[in-house]
Amino acid sequence: MDLSLSIPEAQTTTVKGDVGWTSRPPARVRCPRCGDEISQTVRAPIDCPGCRLKRPAEAFPDFELLAMRCPVCGCDMAFGRRHPNVIAVPEYATCRQCQYHWELEHF
Ligand SMILES: [Zn+2]
Ligand SMILES: [Zn+2]
Repeated sequence: MDLSLSIPEAQTTTVKGDVGWTSRPPARVRCPRCGDEISQTVRAPIDCPGCRLKRPAEAFPDFELLAMRCPVCGCDMAFGRRHPNVIAVPEYATCRQCQYHWELEHF
């Protein structure tokens, strides 16, 4: 008689996620000069396709953030700030589709 029980695999629902500014999902910001949307990845310069405005990546907080795109499934993410008076950039973003989550800092 075989008494060994088949132990089901531990249900590790690994939700993908990243932490840190350099792992930030790609974003879309509004061009302050012509109003076009500018797609930008974290290290790339902010380069407007409409009017050729070009700013370094460090100028990101000066731009109006329109959306952040999930690097896993490509959907727009819900994003926000936890300390709006202290930090001018988003501090977290969550994908409603695949639950991918990004955090600026570890808790
Ligand atoms: Zn522009
Ligand atoms: Zn996603």
